[in-house]
Amino acid sequence: MATEKSLAMILRVVDFSESSCVVTMMTRDFGKISALAKGARRPKGPFESAIDLLALCRVVFIHKPSDALDLLTEAKLERRFRAASRDLTRLYAGFYLAELLNELTDEADPHPELFDAAVRCWTALNGEGDVGTNVLWFEMTALRHLGHLPLWDVCAGCGQSITLAPRIPFGVLAGGVLCPQCRVGQRQVVGVRPEILQLLRTFSRDETNEFEPPMTLPADGRGELRGLVNQFFANLLGRRLRMHQYLGVLAS
Ligand SMILES: [Zn+2]
Repeated sequence: MATEKSLAMILRVVDFSESSCVVTMMTRDFGKISALAKGARRPKGPFESAIDLLALCRVVFIHKPSDALDLLTEAKLERRFRAASRDLTRLYAGFYLAELLNELTDEADPHPELFDAAVRCWTALNGEGDVGTNVLWFEMTALRHLGHLPLWDVCAGCGQSITLAPRIPFGVLAGGVLCPQCRVGQRQVVGVRPEILQLLRTFSRDETNEFEPPMTLPADGRGELRGLVNQFFANLLGRRLRMHQYLGVLAS
């Protein structure tokens, strides 16, 4: 059994017994892990107040080789998510960040750059960053790192370039825009304005030197954008994300 150390973001805390809980966290070096935190629910437990939803911690855990839960042995608080005390939208966006990380990633599949992007988004939400802009930036960055980015330029059916039209068909099931031929017979097709596709393209770019959103989202089009992105994630994951219903405010 190896003892491992990493920086981690806490995604989920579930009570396990009167004194213990199971903590799901995204670690920078080992990907998502679930670990038993013995004594974490006691007032003067070994983790003090480090185990808190969205907290950034330095953790030490014992990795169990079998299907058994890993065992959390230390958690030292680095930074707490403080948006809750001042802004409900920021709090919900933080919950959504945790939900996305939890739903999109597999256990023990590390993506250090995705972790860094999550911390970047976390910091913006915890500070003064525009919520809608930073959420979209993280969504597109996550899709890019995990290989799920939709095709915004070429037809998802045949690969040919898409010609401009007032509304361009986007196939939610097909995973990208569609040419007139490939659009025929497709279900779940949304007509998207070219300006919206341009925004999504801009936010999907891999700009490793600019580790932040490329621009602030304009007010016009946020609703259309949110509808499309929510639908795409619901299809990708096979169900609607729980926090989407609380993020309606990002559409305005
Ligand atoms: Zn086509």
